[in-house]
Formats: sequence, structure tokens, C-alpha cells
Amino acid sequence: MKLFIQKIQRKLLHLRLQPIRVFCLHHVCKTYDESTMYYDDWMDIDKFKAKVLSMQQDGVEFISLTDAYNKITNDKFRNHKYAVLTFDDGYASLKEILPWLAEQHIPAALFINGKYLDGKSYRDNPKEQYLTKEELFALTSPLIEIGSHGWEHNRTTEMTLEEFAESVKRNIGLLSGHPNYIPFGAYTYGSHSNNTDDYLHRQGLVPIYIDGVKNYNEIKVIHRELL
Ligand SMILES: [Zn+2]
Repeated sequence: MKLFIQKIQRKLLHLRLQPIRVFCLHHVCKTYDESTMYYDDWMDIDKFKAKVLSMQQDGVEFISLTDAYNKITNDKFRNHKYAVLTFDDGYASLKEILPWLAEQHIPAALFINGKYLDGKSYRDNPKEQYLTKEELFALTSPLIEIGSHGWEHNRTTEMTLEEFAESVKRNIGLLSGHPNYIPFGAYTYGSHSNNTDDYLHRQGLVPIYIDGVKNYNEIKVIHRELL
């Protein structure tokens, strides 16, 4: 009976609120380079543009993550279809797609690991290429938002809470100096726990998952899907 009532409540919720879809991307560029990219993290730039344009034709409006969060938190009714584009890890390939998004007046949120902004990769693949600190701090268009992805790209659940807290604090220490910094924390690999959520909330950060879920009227969390 309880399950049945929950199902009805969910149906009613979906009737009055269009979902806000938040997409997680990594490399969107012309050429897949196996020496610097993981294949699953790459999307062909023409395929991406076609997808975005077709969603717009279908009535979807791309908005900033901050606007989406405000709607998800406050809307009682929502007829309009909204979506958000987010890019994780701060790869140098962003320089290929950001100019096109700017031309289209489409906002994007970037989730950055501070450690790699010296241009080096400290991850499994030492050839990965990241935006430098200068390049990141030169992105001051109001269409760009900058959030945290942890100081290093470690799996949250493989860290102690103290290590996680240190990683968050150190990253925020750097990124909060960016004029377009937003208090959102995207989990590396989407891995998280109640304890890490609680920690982010105490720091005034909104946790961001990658769990394939659409957002209706969530409180204090954002769900993301792969595009
Ligand atoms: Zn990542």
C-alpha cells in the first residue's frame, strides 16, 4: 500500500513538474586521441552540436546550473523543458567546444580539479592535457560557472572523510578566487556517501551525482546523466 501511494505521488509530481536534465560531459572535440583521452569520455563535436540543436528544436532551453538549482529547489509547477551542460575534469579540449557554446549563448558549468591546473597530469595517463590556471581564470564570461571536482581525481569512497574534507577545502581555496565560482561539488566517478554529502552541506556546497536521474524537486542535491 505504501509503495502504491509513493507511485501515485511520483506520478502527480511528474504531472506538475517537467524534469530538468543535467548532462555530464568530458571531451567534446573533433578528434579522439587515444594517447590523451579515455574513449568513453569523448564525444564527437559535430554529433554533440547536432544533439544540442535538436534538443533546442524540441523545446529544451539550456540554462546555467545555478538557475537550474534555483528552479529545482523552488518551482511548484514547471511546464518548460530545461537542461544544463556540465563538463568534468577541466580538460584542454574545452577550448574547442566553449567558443561554440558561447556563440549559441548556452551556459556551461565546469568541474575542476585544482591540482592539474599546472598543466601536468597526475592520473593514470600522464599524457592527459588540462586547462592551465591562466586559461581557467581567463574564462570570465557570465555563461561559464566553475565548481569543484576535488583537488585530485580520487574516488571519494576510497578516501577517509578527513582526506575527502582536505581535498574539498584545498580545491575550494583555489577555485573560490575565480569570479565565476559556484558552491557546487561534483563527485569524482560519482562516488559518494551520506557522510560526504553531510560534509559538503556543512561547507555550503551542493553535492552533484552522476546517477542517470532527472531532477524534479530535489533538495540540496543535483543528479546528472551522461549525454
Ligand atoms: Zn571526473
